[in-house]
Amino acid sequence: MVDFIAENIREIRDKIKSAAKRSNRDISEIRLMGVSKTHPVADMLSAAAKVDILGENKVQEAADKRLNWFSEEKTPWHLIGHLQRNKARKALEVFDLIETVDSLNLARMLDRILAETDKSEYPVYLEINMSGELTKNGAVPQEAAHLLEMVMQYCPRLSVEGLMTIGPNIEDEVEIRKSFEGLRILRDQLSSVSGLSLKELSMGMSTDYEIAIEEGSTIVRVGTGIFGARPE
Ligand SMILES: *Cc1c(COP(=O)(O)O)cnc(C)c1O
Repeated sequence: MVDFIAENIREIRDKIKSAAKRSNRDISEIRLMGVSKTHPVADMLSAAAKVDILGENKVQEAADKRLNWFSEEKTPWHLIGHLQRNKARKALEVFDLIETVDSLNLARMLDRILAETDKSEYPVYLEINMSGELTKNGAVPQEAAHLLEMVMQYCPRLSVEGLMTIGPNIEDEVEIRKSFEGLRILRDQLSSVSGLSLKELSMGMSTDYEIAIEEGSTIVRVGTGIFGARPE
């Protein structure tokens, strides 16, 4: 049987390499995340050693998958879906990093739980809604500087290491590119104001990861492109 997952990952790695070359970027700073939401643990396991990060949208689904995870793989797990505050504790148990911090309330809740559990440092990204689409979560770009300042002030256990966004749900490549470029420019501004390096830019999915890489992405989150279509 053809291992279509391995095949897909190989092709994506090639495209990542070409996009990096086109934009004069060092390939070692770009990581591939396999987004295995709705796909079975078995598929996830066959991808685990071949991707750099695994991503899940839902806390409960990830927790269930962890129970069936008999792998030695140490691939880090990121939460990339919206986090409700009543799932915050479980999210901190299940994931190595939360990419979707988008409010001070959520950040403070995470910080409070970390204080109880004796963890002094936990990495997060701030999710930014660059497209302005109402269906999307994330802080609006105009509020990002304030949010970062508040998180640094009130959430000492959270280490903000980057920004995350979901590209606009449109075909227009110019607009998509603008949105990713906007996140990079915002990162540069926030970095210079805060003194944090904010090294990671999590942007780009199956249909737009090559554009995202050309605009500076350090993590591309690919689901369909690796695992195939999701049952809706
Ligand atoms: C589902 C999802 C992805 C992957 O989407 P594909 O289009 O299947 O590659 C990436 N990021 C987030 C936040 C997602 O929810």
